[in-house]
Amino acid sequence: MRVLKFGGTSLANAERFLRVSDIVVNTHRKSQVALVLSAPARVTNLLVELVEKASGGSDGTDVIAQIKSIFSGLIAGIQERYPAYEAPELYRRMEEEFALVQKRIQGITLLGQCPDNVQAFILSRGEKLSVVLMEALLRARGEQVTRLCSVETLKTEGGYLESRINLDVSRRLFQERKINNYTIYIMMGFTGGNEKGELVLLGRNGSDYSAACLAVCVNAESCEIWTDVDGVYSCDPRIVPDALLLKRLSYKEAMELSYFGAKVLHPRTIAPIAQYRIPCHIKNSLNPECEGTLIAQIGDPSLPVKGISDLKDITLVNVSGPGMKGMVGMAGRIFTCVSRARVSIALITQSSSEYSISFCIHTSDKDRAQKALEEEFQLELKDGLLDGIDFVDNKAIISVIGDGMLTVRGIASKFFSALALANINVNAIAQGSSERSISAVVSRNKVSEAIKICHQNFFSSIQHIDVLVIGIGGVGGALLEQIRRQQPVLLKNHNLMMRVFGMCNSKHMMLCADGIDLDSDYRTALNESGEAFSLTRAKEFITETHLINPVIVDCTSDQKIADQYADFLLAGFHVVTPNKKANTGNMEFYRKLRDAAQLRRRKFLYETNVGAGLPVIENLQNLIAAGDRLQRFNGILSGSLSFIFGKLDEGMSFSEATLIARDKGFTEPDPRDDLNGMDVARKILILARECGMELDLSDVEVEMALPPGFDASGTKEEFLARLPEADAYFREQIADAKARGEVLRYVGSIEDGRCRVGIRRVNEEDPLYKVKDGENALAFLSLYYQPIPLVLRGYGAGTQVTAAGVFADILRTLNWKREA
Ligand code: ADP
Ligand code: ASP
Ligand code: MG
Repeated sequence: MRVLKFGGTSLANAERFLRVSDIVVNTHRKSQVALVLSAPARVTNLLVELVEKASGGSDGTDVIAQIKSIFSGLIAGIQERYPAYEAPELYRRMEEEFALVQKRIQGITLLGQCPDNVQAFILSRGEKLSVVLMEALLRARGEQVTRLCSVETLKTEGGYLESRINLDVSRRLFQERKINNYTIYIMMGFTGGNEKGELVLLGRNGSDYSAACLAVCVNAESCEIWTDVDGVYSCDPRIVPDALLLKRLSYKEAMELSYFGAKVLHPRTIAPIAQYRIPCHIKNSLNPECEGTLIAQIGDPSLPVKGISDLKDITLVNVSGPGMKGMVGMAGRIFTCVSRARVSIALITQSSSEYSISFCIHTSDKDRAQKALEEEFQLELKDGLLDGIDFVDNKAIISVIGDGMLTVRGIASKFFSALALANINVNAIAQGSSERSISAVVSRNKVSEAIKICHQNFFSSIQHIDVLVIGIGGVGGALLEQIRRQQPVLLKNHNLMMRVFGMCNSKHMMLCADGIDLDSDYRTALNESGEAFSLTRAKEFITETHLINPVIVDCTSDQKIADQYADFLLAGFHVVTPNKKANTGNMEFYRKLRDAAQLRRRKFLYETNVGAGLPVIENLQNLIAAGDRLQRFNGILSGSLSFIFGKLDEGMSFSEATLIARDKGFTEPDPRDDLNGMDVARKILILARECGMELDLSDVEVEMALPPGFDASGTKEEFLARLPEADAYFREQIADAKARGEVLRYVGSIEDGRCRVGIRRVNEEDPLYKVKDGENALAFLSLYYQPIPLVLRGYGAGTQVTAAGVFADILRTLNWKREA
């Protein structure tokens, strides 16, 4: 015999009901079948709501109407397909059930409370009607059906709402029955009968458990749990869409997974089938061809970690105080009194000092636990032996589960590093004594991030980067285009999903959790979006959408945006930018940024601040970290000035070279922004600070790229008209330099603790001698690099190379790697 259980999700509407009947009829052709049914989806929740309303004295007519409409929909839909379906009789049966419910509801409203036995009756009506409707459907399809009464079949112990099945008694009773080969057996899930023969419930979601116990009673060849997903996944597929379907699980793994929250199985389901070694299949009623998951004695040894699950709505209880040290039997008293109050404990940790014991309970049990503990420890609390009993709500337990954890090292460290990388604080830790699970208590609102990041670390080959681009002009625009082009390549070759979840310009912001389609006309969409840029909104957005690796890329040169970097980092974003403003603010802000990044374990990357795409900053940081010390630096750090001074070598006049540079877009629209040397000064300051020098921008000695005393005032046009007045000076200087075999270069230097920027003469020996045409060059003379300096040379400006440098920084935010 095969036991088939169909959950509420499989019975949610007429179409699904019909599919279930197809599966049953097909299976019955090959084997004897016993069917266990839940209530259709939502019905039990509505019945709970109804009882709560009635107990609170409010009217539940609307709730009853909703439940009836679910069943009426089922009856009507099924009848459409099978005209032999006895719809009028079934409507009558439904009304009859609800008349009974209504009667009890009146009593509850009068009493102001609902006795447990009455509640059990009402909550089980969904299962009752499921069975009535399915039985009629199978009959209409020409099958023989025999109802198994769960109250008579599954004998229970415990209260009316969360009873346990006594397998020995139930098995014995069942053996007295005669099994008929031709009939399909059908039984209500979620229910059983106590020794008085009254109906009791097996706890919410308990139909899986009904099926497992029935499988034991009938000595089934298999127990099949049919639901709405293809089987058991490595974690809830609603949270992680690329969760892995597990082909095989051991009983112990399945038990642990369901205990720690994998809703696909009720936690009590596995014990009975494990005891009697009945294979259990989890299958999808919407996709019956899929093999599903097989739960059996031995799992799949190739996967050490099978799943990650969570229990939400947890309260962390801490009992601590000086009196606990060495007090014999303290733990015993705590746990006995809690269990007497019918509170189950989800997880326990004890500090080794014995000064405190912490454990987790379901928040719904908190009041009972609190009352019980305060009564039990009344004296100790009064005498100050206990500091008090703390209850911290809004917690959740994240667990990593798998048989292989017994033998494979490093799983715990991987688990906790993943949580740390996602900035998730761990309040308590427990490792199951079976070593089959490790659990961490975290904040309730961090559950989705925690599950996602752990899953990514243990299972997924796909890593995510979610980017918010601020400023979509030159560099920002080129960056978006590079991302658009590279997205498929990164995914295919590197399993990396890079998405732009937001973009903003000075006026608008556009956010989209699934990533903005970069093939679309996003510029127009952005300009039409009504939202203005706001850090608060962006922060809310990453929290709502549980992005785990969000990166803000600032492609503006805006001081106001730069001022917010510390807030971005504290809000959990990495920050990547070519904008030099933040790194050239005062030292206090400079340190604050780095502290914020370290505190939140986020990256602040600005490789393109100096030399655009040239690998300057990271190289320098690595050298310094390896103990190198800068002795002297000389560099050509401005593409436009490299161009202008190169042209002077060739005999062009200074004004002409400047105008050409401007027309080619090498300079800013107002060339004074380049000629004043401030841009180079900022770059020199950034390099000096990387080398450990504590300087401000005002400490950099700046000589403009203009003749001494040149009047650079007035409008841009006035300045440009005056520019030829500088030609004579440069002509003279060039001639003089040439006579000595030298050229003029605009150089930034660091030496003896001083930073200087200005026009220098360099001879043929100097690495900067040949650098022109917009090229940059950086010569670092250091402890390790001498007497020949380390020289980096190449184009140090331009939107494409800068955007490529930004792109590389974005990739560097991913600093964890999956084990091969
Ligand atoms: P049913 O009504 O069939 O009993 P449930 O809603 O109780 O269905 O359980 C199925 C749901 O469990 C799935 O839709 C899925 O979202 C959720 N679930 C949670 N964790 C897991 C997991 N690890 N594997 C599969 N499903 C899971
Ligand atoms: N219908 C019950 C519930 O929703 C039992 C079940 O579906 O397993 O809790
Ligand atoms: Mg279920």
